[in-house]
Amino acid sequence: MQSGHWQADLDVPPTLFAAHMRALVEGGYTVVTAGEVIQRLQDRREFPPKTVCITFDDGYRNNFSNAFCELQRCGFRASFFVVTDYIGSGRRFAWLSTKRTDRSHIEDSHIWEPLRWTDVLEMNAAGMEMASHSCTHADFSELEPEEMRREVSDSRRALLMRLGDSVSRVFVCPFGAEAATAKQLISVLHENGYVGAFTGRTGAVGPTSDPFDLPRLTVYHDDSVAIFLRKVDGAYDWLMWFQTVWLRVTQGRQRLKNRKGGNHAGTESRNPLAGEKL
Ligand SMILES: [Zn+2]
Repeated sequence: MQSGHWQADLDVPPTLFAAHMRALVEGGYTVVTAGEVIQRLQDRREFPPKTVCITFDDGYRNNFSNAFCELQRCGFRASFFVVTDYIGSGRRFAWLSTKRTDRSHIEDSHIWEPLRWTDVLEMNAAGMEMASHSCTHADFSELEPEEMRREVSDSRRALLMRLGDSVSRVFVCPFGAEAATAKQLISVLHENGYVGAFTGRTGAVGPTSDPFDLPRLTVYHDDSVAIFLRKVDGAYDWLMWFQTVWLRVTQGRQRLKNRKGGNHAGTESRNPLAGEKL
């Protein structure tokens, strides 16, 4: 299972993912889509206790081949944020890297494959929420406003053309977004009919969350069921504070590197506990 930018430690093996999902069923959790989260925030309705939203980023084929069946078995609807130019292309995602990764726990030899449109159609027909994660997975901090507009509008249009009005109005920003980028992005999202976004913060959504700056928690490939449930139950929400400090440090380092003429390749600031996302 994948989320964010491909790193082996973010791939939850199918058997573990099944155990995570079973734990949600047995624990009596309510699973909602990202669109339903936004709707509740807009309506100022309280979230029922034990409410969880499961999201997947990028659009890897194993979202269909592994996660989809398990979600259906459990009666859950999840939200899939896909990079539309890659769907059905058979191309390897440009941001994938084999460096620094231990792939020994990955059984799926087709780990690099993007979803196909037939997968997306089937998942959508089964009630999964399909949403945009841009056209190309560009680093939005490096885009001109016009390019940002294209990434946001064309990606949703590509989904709308095939899926119709069921396409989500929630967006996930590739690589997350710093404050200045987020401000510009939110205005572009408003222009294009979006109602909310995940911008890269770590934490849980609450009644006062900003719909355009929603946080998430990441599940790692080796998160036991106990750790998974602790995350779901809010034991790691303090990371919102920690991530702020972490991002300041890493962004400071990046700026320094840029001034020295280093390569700003759009690598995501890796938060220390940053799978599927909740
Ligand atoms: Zn991504």
